[in-house]
Amino acid sequence: MILQMPWLQGAVDQFHQRMVNQRLPHAILLQGRAGDGAEILAQSLAKAALCNNPELGYPCNQCKSCLLHSAETHPDYMKLEPGGASVTIRVDDIRSLVDRFTTTAQISSRKVAVLLHAETMNTAAANALLKTLEEPPGDSLLILVTEGTKPLLPTVRSRCQPISMQSPDKAQITHWLEQRELAKGASEALMQALDYQPLKIAQWVEEGLNKNWEHFQAILTGVAGSQLTPVMAATECKDIGVSDQLDWVDQKISAWVKQQASSGHALDRRWVRYLDQLIALRRELIHSANVNAQLFSESLFMLWQQFNRQLG
Ligand SMILES: [Zn+2]
Repeated sequence: MILQMPWLQGAVDQFHQRMVNQRLPHAILLQGRAGDGAEILAQSLAKAALCNNPELGYPCNQCKSCLLHSAETHPDYMKLEPGGASVTIRVDDIRSLVDRFTTTAQISSRKVAVLLHAETMNTAAANALLKTLEEPPGDSLLILVTEGTKPLLPTVRSRCQPISMQSPDKAQITHWLEQRELAKGASEALMQALDYQPLKIAQWVEEGLNKNWEHFQAILTGVAGSQLTPVMAATECKDIGVSDQLDWVDQKISAWVKQQASSGHALDRRWVRYLDQLIALRRELIHSANVNAQLFSESLFMLWQQFNRQLG
């Protein structure tokens, strides 16, 4: 799959160069969005680092190491990510990684770990990792992946070598979607709403979310232009989850806010009030056990209508 994502080639090349020059560091920082393939890339680099016969920075996909990695049973490989109810990488998981890193590699020439959402490590977890970063065992590689929305602790960042990852351009995204026969379902508006992240766009089209989304956008336009009442709109949306409905209004508003900010306009009171109303709806959704979907949806469209009327 990664071979078909040409925008990742630059990162693979950087990795490969370091491998052939025997200059593979002990810790790599990969900054990129999961929706652009950052996690797939990290897994592929890890697999290549473990592979007994890597080719140009790619794993061979045939050796014992590659087969074990694919089966997720490689004894020299670990993947950490925030899990369960936790939104952070747990300090216990880091400790067990550190323990594993003190043992000798069994199948491959080194041990490799991938840390997804590395920025979610709290200070305790980062400190537990720090010693391994400062005095890495000879045969180990850590690949830290971060979206870059939240900063990584400087003590961790400064001990990693960055590998830079490109985002795809529009032509690459379209071509990639065409290869998967998913291009038809991805309108320009949808791609924009998903911030041009190809994997996310593909997932939406595959799951049919794009159709619901397009339908919902048409309803929002209808309510804003008073062709639809909030009650009619809510009935039209009965097959769309209320949480999706709220997310999609939020998404639209965020895009507008961004646009306003980039054109140097300050948000006036109407915007602030509407954003507050959306937050209140979000709270209601989180805290009440049994939300009446029709009523919730009606409120959402009512506020949307009011807001659009105020904007004139
Ligand atoms: Zn291999």
